Amino acid sequence: MKIIAVGMNYREHVSELEENEEPSEPVLFLKPDSALASDKLPFFLPDFSEEIHYETEIVVKISKLGKNIAEKFAHRYYDQFTLGLDMTARDLQRKARQKGLSWALSKGFDQSAVVGRFLPVGERDMQDLHFHLDINGQTVQKGYTGDMIFSIDRIVAYASRFFTLKTGDLIFTGTPYGVGPVHIGDCLEASLGDEKLLQLRIK
Ligand code: MG
Repeated sequence: MKIIAVGMNYREHVSELEENEEPSEPVLFLKPDSALASDKLPFFLPDFSEEIHYETEIVVKISKLGKNIAEKFAHRYYDQFTLGLDMTARDLQRKARQKGLSWALSKGFDQSAVVGRFLPVGERDMQDLHFHLDINGQTVQKGYTGDMIFSIDRIVAYASRFFTLKTGDLIFTGTPYGVGPVHIGDCLEASLGDEKLLQLRIK
């Protein structure tokens, strides 16, 4: 399986990264399958970064093979979703950005794609979901999928022009404003409305 992720998909987060231009097409990057982690295990801070950030994101799971999917049919290609954490080595990413280098290390390291409990999409309007992240009981990030620059269907359609989507692939759809560092001992809890889908301990 592969993990496709979208950068800069919420306006206020784009400004927070000190980028002045909103993207005109989805900014995609990949994480290897070794990045995938369950929230059932603790997240161990790696030794190559002094600044690991959380990014809370809606994650959809691809349910059938697809290539060149039309946006209006894209909803047929995912049937489950959850909240995930696109863990980012911000210090490495900042260096890479300055030099115009790849995000592979800062975004793709082991355990950098944490996912919670999956829910069926069903009849849900995926562009009308509220979610938030609490750290040690304090809300640090709030997102609303209606604020995405590119909708989930648009992302699925766009990604499928370049990558054949396969059953089980995951798409991280971007993080809202409010990213920040994690520290040893932190407890991260991501919820959809009132429903907690992910709980992660930092060690
Ligand atoms: Mg992200």
